[in-house]
Amino acid sequence: MPIDPRPVPLSPTLAVNEAIVRKRREGVPVLPLGFGEAGVPIHPALVRELSAAAGRGAYGPVAGSAALRAAAAGYWSRRGLPTDPETVVCGPGSKALLFGLLLAVGGRVAVPSPSWVSYAAQATLAGHAPALVATPPGEGGVPSAALLADAVVRARAEGRPIRAVVVTLPDNPTGTLASEETVRKLCGVARDHDLLIISDEIYGDLVHDPARRVFSPARVAPERTVVTTALSKHLAAGGWRLGVARLPEGPFGRALRASLVGLASEIWSASPAPMQHAAAYAFGEPPELVAHVERSRRLHAAVTGAVADRFAAAGARVRRPEAAFYVYPDLEPLRDRLRAAHGVTTGAELTGLLLERYGVGVLPASAFGEADGVLRVRVAPTMLYGDDDDRRLEALGSPDPVSLPWIAGALDRLSGVLADLTDLTDLAAPAPGRACGAGHRTGSGHSPVAAAAS
Ligand code: PMP
Repeated sequence: MPIDPRPVPLSPTLAVNEAIVRKRREGVPVLPLGFGEAGVPIHPALVRELSAAAGRGAYGPVAGSAALRAAAAGYWSRRGLPTDPETVVCGPGSKALLFGLLLAVGGRVAVPSPSWVSYAAQATLAGHAPALVATPPGEGGVPSAALLADAVVRARAEGRPIRAVVVTLPDNPTGTLASEETVRKLCGVARDHDLLIISDEIYGDLVHDPARRVFSPARVAPERTVVTTALSKHLAAGGWRLGVARLPEGPFGRALRASLVGLASEIWSASPAPMQHAAAYAFGEPPELVAHVERSRRLHAAVTGAVADRFAAAGARVRRPEAAFYVYPDLEPLRDRLRAAHGVTTGAELTGLLLERYGVGVLPASAFGEADGVLRVRVAPTMLYGDDDDRRLEALGSPDPVSLPWIAGALDRLSGVLADLTDLTDLAAPAPGRACGAGHRTGSGHSPVAAAAS
């Protein structure tokens, strides 16, 4: 063949989803906790709006319809960010917009560590391996200001200057929301070093405590901040592929917009017209959608909190999530047991074991830019809400969703897996069927979890 296609691995979140689908097809009982899908049904009003616009077959403007851009501007204005619709660009998902922005930046970016799997992958595809900058404890999604300043100075001295920084408010994978103070400090460094800030606020409406709001860097550094969001998370319409970006005003913002729109014109031409119509309706925030988002927020809070409790009970170090639908437990306190029972020393070995032996799909911290030896895993429990829309609706409307039998059963199974994973009892004496190698088990024989998973 005349070419050697560039190797681009499947995004880890999509890959774990596919592995789980494969296991399920093989008849293995699975706990799908890997994929960042919102897991609640699409609201019927959105379906109605989408259907009404199904006949729209024309391409439409590259930046998006005037109605959608005005609705998105209203959405941001109600969140303390007055927005001119001229500064809004829509795209087929915020992922595409983020990639377009990285291409427009045309230089190195700093991304938080840990952070969503695709920033680093996209930056690398765009031609510049990113600088990974650690986040302050308990405040995922925003690089520590002091460490960012150091990284910027170092990168400049090396002749590989950093041009932009990505932040996630609230954060995936940690489920935390950085404080106003942390955001202000980040903006200070961005100003001092003339960095563009790309603020991914796709989980902005899923802060569990309704009294807490995202403090966007666009509040303090509007001249250099792009904000992105989408329908994918709070309205569970990831498959509709519709996102929006709010660019800065002024000459810099206009130049950036021209670059992004030019890139969009060469890659996706325009976003799907029927989805734009439905999105314009959604960003107008009619009461039935606001109530729907409120119910999803409560469901995510209840289930992620329960998952965090199960990990804590098993001896992991874990924070109760403050936002979104992720839990990020650290199994470091169980390291010795994991090594003794299974020979596990890295995050990927841990998640590989969870998948192969127990049918549990989670992602290792290394997928989010952390070191291979880190034993944190990202758990996304939204697939437990139900296998069909009837169950998902029941979960959404329930005052106590974790007591619904299918969710309670999955949580108990998780507890069983975690107990079995760290159980050393049958390591005392060699038993038939034990794997060769330093004490690695293949099955405990007496555990209902192991039996179910084998
Ligand atoms: N940003 C973050 C932090 C995400 O978790 C995701 C989806 N997992 C996206 C962006 C992309 O969302 P979409 O392309 O559906 O808008």
